[in-house]
Amino acid sequence: MTDNPAQKIRLIMELRRQGISNTDVLSAIERVPRDVFVPKTFRDRAYENIALPIASGQTISQPYVVSYMTQLLKLDKRRKVLEIGTGSGYQTAILARLCRRVYSIERYRNLLDAAEEVFKTLKITNITTKLGDGHKGWPEQAPFDRIIVTAAAAEVPQDLLNQLGNDGIMVLPVGRDSGDQKILRVTKDEHGKVSEEALLPVRFVPMVQGVAEET
Ligand code: SAH
Repeated sequence: MTDNPAQKIRLIMELRRQGISNTDVLSAIERVPRDVFVPKTFRDRAYENIALPIASGQTISQPYVVSYMTQLLKLDKRRKVLEIGTGSGYQTAILARLCRRVYSIERYRNLLDAAEEVFKTLKITNITTKLGDGHKGWPEQAPFDRIIVTAAAAEVPQDLLNQLGNDGIMVLPVGRDSGDQKILRVTKDEHGKVSEEALLPVRFVPMVQGVAEET
């Protein structure tokens, strides 16, 4: 392992400077080893504040974006969270430290298997995953207190909005092309009234229809 404490502290100081102030989020970043979620060739760069390539042409998100989206979710230990786009599983592991249970959906079997292995190694037990198309959400487990999507859709997927409970928060990147994406915070009030705010400009891989046939 290359769990380098000095590099990690530098990263956390950088995140604080960039406006991440939630101490629970910062402590999750400090405790979850990012190096075990990245391919071996990139391990020495695991604590840089950059996105890195993972298998199947996907990416592990930048620590700043992971922290920013997690902070927007306002998590606590009572919350049941749906995540779309397990990818490396890094964001999933961060969420798992801060909520009751994470349900995470990925369309690549190989990414899901690799992420499951890491969760086992790290002894994380409050994550449930499945292979599937995240556009459909996880109706059997709905409603969710929080939903996070880590791949960019052209618009807010209607099934996900339907599966968000009242008093719920959904955070997702939305945009038609990669140069035009923004993080959106969608909230449902206690009566189910929906409102949206466009926040940070970002660059995510696209949300793709259906389960992947190839790896
Ligand atoms: N949070 C992950 C991000 C991975 S990139 C991490 O930091 O590692 C986005 C992921 O979303 C990819 O793994 C991609 O395969 C997945 N994805 C894209 N469209 C999807 C869909 N319709 N359903 C489920 N997963 C999807």
